[in-house]
Amino acid sequence: MSAHAAKRLENLPPYLFAEIDRKKAALVAEGHDVISLGIGDPDKPTFPRSGKRMSEAVQDPQNHQYPSYAGSPAYRAACAQFLQTRFGVHVNPDSEVLALIGSKEGIANLFPAFVDPGAWTLIPGVGYPVYSGGGILNDSKSWWMPMRAENDFLADFESTPIDVLAQAKMMIISYPNNPTSAVAPPEYFDKAIAFAREHGLLLVHDNAYCDIAYDGYRPGSILERPGAREVCLELFSTSKSYNMTGWRCAFVAGNAEAIATFATVKSNIDSGIFTAVQDAAIEAFTGPQDEVRQMCELYQRRRDVVLRTLDDMGLEYHYPKGTIFIWVKVPEGYTSAEYAEKLLMEAHVIVAAGNAYGPDGEGWFRLSLACDDRRLDEALNRMKELT
Ligand SMILES: *Cc1c(COP(=O)(O)O)cnc(C)c1O
Repeated sequence: MSAHAAKRLENLPPYLFAEIDRKKAALVAEGHDVISLGIGDPDKPTFPRSGKRMSEAVQDPQNHQYPSYAGSPAYRAACAQFLQTRFGVHVNPDSEVLALIGSKEGIANLFPAFVDPGAWTLIPGVGYPVYSGGGILNDSKSWWMPMRAENDFLADFESTPIDVLAQAKMMIISYPNNPTSAVAPPEYFDKAIAFAREHGLLLVHDNAYCDIAYDGYRPGSILERPGAREVCLELFSTSKSYNMTGWRCAFVAGNAEAIATFATVKSNIDSGIFTAVQDAAIEAFTGPQDEVRQMCELYQRRRDVVLRTLDDMGLEYHYPKGTIFIWVKVPEGYTSAEYAEKLLMEAHVIVAAGNAYGPDGEGWFRLSLACDDRRLDEALNRMKELT
C-alpha cells in the first residue's frame, strides 16, 4: 500500500479473492475454460423500455445540468409508488425518500451520517462486505451479530453485550439475505424494531432482493411493520429487481429526520444521479412488471437445476426462497477457501468462499444463479464429476 495511505486502511481485510484470481489467470493462460458462479450480477440485460426512456432523456438539455441532490420530484414519486404497489407502504416522497447512487453508496455513507468514530454498529455475522468496510473507513467498530444455520440465519441481536450496546448507534440487517439467501418472517422485523427503539439504534434494512423470490414467496418491507417509521431506514435498488447494476440507481426510505440527516451528509459528498438515469428508473418502477416475474421464473428454474446437482453430490445447502444465491455447506475436511480452490483447480469453476462475508461464513460457499443456462449446466456437470 502507498506510504501516503491513511492508517485506517490497514484495518481493511486482505482481498480474499487475490489467490483465486491469480490461479484463475494461470488456468486461463494455459487455455482452460473457467466458469464463474461467483458473481452477484444479473446476466440478463436491463429491460429495453428503461434504455429507450433514457435515450430520449439524454437529449434533453435540462438533464445536462446538476441533478437534484435528493432525486428529482418525479423519481421520488416513482419510488413512493413502488413502495405503495409492492407493499402497500405509503411514504411522503418529499420527506421520506432519498435517491442513492446505488445502495452500496448509501450503505457506505450511512457511517459518516449516523455513526461516530469509535462507536459500534451491529452488523450481520455474514453479509454484504460494505457493512464492515463502511465502519472501517469511518473509524467506528463493527459488532458481528451471530448468524447461524440453526437460527435460520436470522442475525441474533439479543446476544449483543451490554457495553457494546451502550455505545452502539446503528444496526444493519438484510432479508432476503446475500449470501445465505435466508428470509425473515415479519415477527423478526418486529423484534428488531423493538430492540432498536429500546437501545436508541437506527435500524437499517437492506432490501436489495425484495423482488427476487421463489415458490410464491413475497418478501416484505420493514416499513410495513408498526413503529418502523420511527427508527428505520430501508434501502431499495434497481440493480437486482430490474437488471440495472450498471446504472447505479437506488433509494432509501423511512424515518424523515434520518432522511434529512442523510441528505445533509450526502450533499457534502455527491451531487445526485444523472437525471436521465433517474428517468430510466422511473420507467422501471412504474411500467408493467412482467419482466420481473419472468426473471424470477428463470432464476427459479436455475435454482432447481443447481439444487438437484447439490443433492446428487450429497452437499447440504440452505433452501433458497429468494435472492440469486445458493448457500452451500463445504464438505467435511475443507475450509471455505480450500474447497473454493478445489472447485477452481479441479472443475475450473469459481464460487465465492463464505468466509469473505464475515466470521459466520466459514464452512460455507456461495453459488450465484446469475449465469447463462448453458454455462451453468457445464459448470454443474464438472462439479458432479469431482470426487
Ligand atoms: C447487490 C446488493 C446491493 C445493491 O447494491 P447497488 O449498489 O444498489 O447495486 C445491496 N445490498 C446487497 C446485500 C446486495 O447484494
